[in-house]
Amino acid sequence: MAETRRNKNRCSFCGRSEDEVGLLITGMNGFICDSCVTQAYSIVQEALETRKSAKTLTLEELPKPVDIKRFLDQYVIGQDDAKRYLAVSVYNHYKRLLQKESGDDVEIEKSNIIMVGSTGTGKTLLARTIAKMLNVPFTIVDATVLTEAGYVGEDIESILTRLLQVADYNVAEAERGIVFIDEIDKIARKGDNPSITRDVSGEGVQQGLLKLLEGSIVNVPPQGGRKHPEQKMIPVNTKNILFICGGAFDGIEKKIAQRLNTHVVGYNAVRSTASIDRKNLMQYIAPQDLKAFGLIPEIIGRLPILTYLNPLDRTALRAILTEPKNSIIRQYLKLFEMDGVKLTFEDAVFEYIVDKAIEYKLGARGLRSIVETIMMDVMYEIPSGNEKSYSVTLDYAKHQMEKANVARLQNA
Ligand code: ADP
Repeated sequence: MAETRRNKNRCSFCGRSEDEVGLLITGMNGFICDSCVTQAYSIVQEALETRKSAKTLTLEELPKPVDIKRFLDQYVIGQDDAKRYLAVSVYNHYKRLLQKESGDDVEIEKSNIIMVGSTGTGKTLLARTIAKMLNVPFTIVDATVLTEAGYVGEDIESILTRLLQVADYNVAEAERGIVFIDEIDKIARKGDNPSITRDVSGEGVQQGLLKLLEGSIVNVPPQGGRKHPEQKMIPVNTKNILFICGGAFDGIEKKIAQRLNTHVVGYNAVRSTASIDRKNLMQYIAPQDLKAFGLIPEIIGRLPILTYLNPLDRTALRAILTEPKNSIIRQYLKLFEMDGVKLTFEDAVFEYIVDKAIEYKLGARGLRSIVETIMMDVMYEIPSGNEKSYSVTLDYAKHQMEKANVARLQNA
């Protein structure tokens, strides 16, 4: 009797013999039974969950949409609609992450966002600003460098490489992150006819991107770039990653105008042609305009939140110059203050800068280059002088601008 007991294989964890358990797995120096495997698995899961949730906020601690918008207001002028959409989406993203841990049966699906607006209206600024207040990994990637696998450029998966890097290669953290994909319009299909050459940077890339947006397990090259056979891939599940896309969609207003004209009598009859604000057609953007521009319907379907940015008018440009927490003018005041110099501007200088930005069609992006041009000589001389204050007058600003090579500014 004792003899048979000794000869039987036993689970090294619970000590039960092979005929007392369902399955006994053989290891190098021992055995493990099926029920100990199950128990070990749940211990591991529990430990991982605790480690993860230690870093997450509770529902009460989450910044509410109003708080998020208020924060954005400090840095970004106007663009109220885009701010509200962003605020709600980010808040819902957090809620979804919390829900995942509570194992609820109503599963909240993620709502990726697409922001459409001319270049220099603040899309990237919005994304960067929101990143300041997030406690999930966040990265900005540029869609222009993406190409279909096998072509010169970067594979779609490299989008996630950056996210992994900011998450210190902690996969669980990266899987809760937010990715801002800039210049999404650059991967639109060129024209309606399939071309004879392959559309390297168009539809193929969109198909690739779709996989990421839909939520799937993607093999990510940890060092980015091309997939090298010798590089060990890291599997990342994109199910809970929030994607925010931005693009200028140059010329999309034409598509919007066409649609509005054809639909005024249809379902859109409430909005008569007369009440359409023709100066800012972007506000009427609808998913079908994105399709007309060349995004495939599947991608549009995966970006259910569509919002727009307004073109920046005179008042907005004037406000951008001085109001945001780190406005260009505030940055200059700081630079001079560090040299012990109190910098002031005549009010007319600000108006003049805005005039020039409009004249050269430089938008908000041009404000900085204009200020740089005006200030260059002073910045060169002041640190070596004895002045304790300096006032920029309108005459001086005009003189500096006339001296500068305007062509250079226009290329800014
Ligand atoms: P986009 O991504 O839409 O092309 P950016 O966000 O890069 O434009 O804007 C370019 C620059 O112009 C920003 O760095 C910022 O200084 C300024 N800017 C643009 N729009 C705004 C805005 N609404 N509020 C404040 N600054 C703005």
